[in-house]
Amino acid sequence: MALSPIDDLLVVGGGIIGLSIAREAARAGLRVRLFDKGEIGREASVAAAGLLGPQIGVDRPEPLLPLCLASRDLYPDFAREVRDESGIDPGLLERGTLVVARNRGEADDLDRQGEFQRSIGLPVERVRGEDVRRLESSLSEECTEGLYLPRDLSVDPVPLVRGLERAVERRGVRLVRGTRVDSLLLEGGRAVGVRVGPDRVKSGAVVIAAGAWSGEIAGDGLAPVPSAPVRGQMICLGPATAPGRPVYADDVYLVPRSDGRVLAGSTMERVGYDRRVTATGIATLTAAAVALVPALGDATFHSAWAGLRPASGDDWPALGRAAAPGLLYACGHLRQGILLAPITAVVTVRLLRGEDPGFDLTAFDPGRFRRGAQADAAPLTRTLRSGDDARSRSAG
Ligand SMILES: Cc1cc2nc3c(=O)[nH]c(=O)nc-3n(C[C@H](O)[C@H](O)[C@H](O)COP(=O)(O)OP(=O)(O)OC[C@H]3O[C@@H](n4cnc5c(N)ncnc54)[C@H](O)[C@@H]3O)c2cc1C
Repeated sequence: MALSPIDDLLVVGGGIIGLSIAREAARAGLRVRLFDKGEIGREASVAAAGLLGPQIGVDRPEPLLPLCLASRDLYPDFAREVRDESGIDPGLLERGTLVVARNRGEADDLDRQGEFQRSIGLPVERVRGEDVRRLESSLSEECTEGLYLPRDLSVDPVPLVRGLERAVERRGVRLVRGTRVDSLLLEGGRAVGVRVGPDRVKSGAVVIAAGAWSGEIAGDGLAPVPSAPVRGQMICLGPATAPGRPVYADDVYLVPRSDGRVLAGSTMERVGYDRRVTATGIATLTAAAVALVPALGDATFHSAWAGLRPASGDDWPALGRAAAPGLLYACGHLRQGILLAPITAVVTVRLLRGEDPGFDLTAFDPGRFRRGAQADAAPLTRTLRSGDDARSRSAG
């Protein structure tokens, strides 16, 4: 169903997804207002590690892969443009990712991933024995098997989000901070704006990009997409002797920053809207990081934080048009929202303009939850394991 032509857009949520959409829509000539219940970019987006690793853990076709690969390939231009538009450097690192294995089972997984990825034409290099530590000399001697993904990137989400905030303001996007959108405004079944307290704010189209809170925004007779938070804790060590590129292992990943610090993440915990850092979280991540890179045992403990990843009802994003004309969703990006921000913005603006999105979005249809798929919201507290489902392996 094509949207009627619109010239103004209201975006709900000022994380990396909402900001990227606002920027792309402003570039396309739309008048854009973006509402955030708090400060811009203070939730999941600035807690992220910044892995841009669509190939990590992939050993079979999956519907999100084309979007993930396309988004990674957009990143060099995206990061450069944000830097040029804002004067803030998002710290893009173009050194690939090294996925490591420390036992036979994990090494077999790397074989499968390498074979599948080669079969679909992705660049990938299986490394063994001393070659693993020739790539990253700080790794423990147990790391004798690896998969090098040369096209992967990483970015520092904190300056990236600050840069996006400044870039969209310079493009004329109106950022409305500290203003919670309560519900959708519907007229004749069409979304015509939002309710903010007692006020009705009219708009040609609305995009819900409210992260883990997206499910709170409903309209008369229109159920919201389900959303839930998945807490991720992160520690930061150093400056330290650390790998020069992201290293991804079964129980922890390490991401170096340009100033010599190294991040170690992350937990996957379904504990509601609880953003606390816990003793167990810090202890588990620290032990796993030191086991992977022994020299980190001597590093200064710099800081720790947690963020709430946005999960939808089935852990795939909700991306595209809703049943009500004029309403689109761009939420539920879980572990891959930093990676997926550029392509989410492109696809959303194509849909707003009535164009073909260029990708098959069937699996991400926001309406699929009305047809019965519901979240498995079982409480879950653990660090990342590569034995989890494919999506949980493939980013932060
Ligand atoms: C520890 C950790 C590590 C991660 N590592 C990676 C990684 O390496 N690579 C990767 O790609 N992804 C990673 N992620 C995932 C990534 O951070 C998220 O997928 C992404 O940030 C989601 O962005 P968002 O804009 O949808 O949500 P958010 O950044 O949470 O933004 C949502 C915004 O909506 C606002 N909002 C909510 N409700 C309302 C309302 N009613 N009205 C107005 N405003 C509202 C909020 O205030 C918030 O600012 C990680 C996440 C965590 C927690």
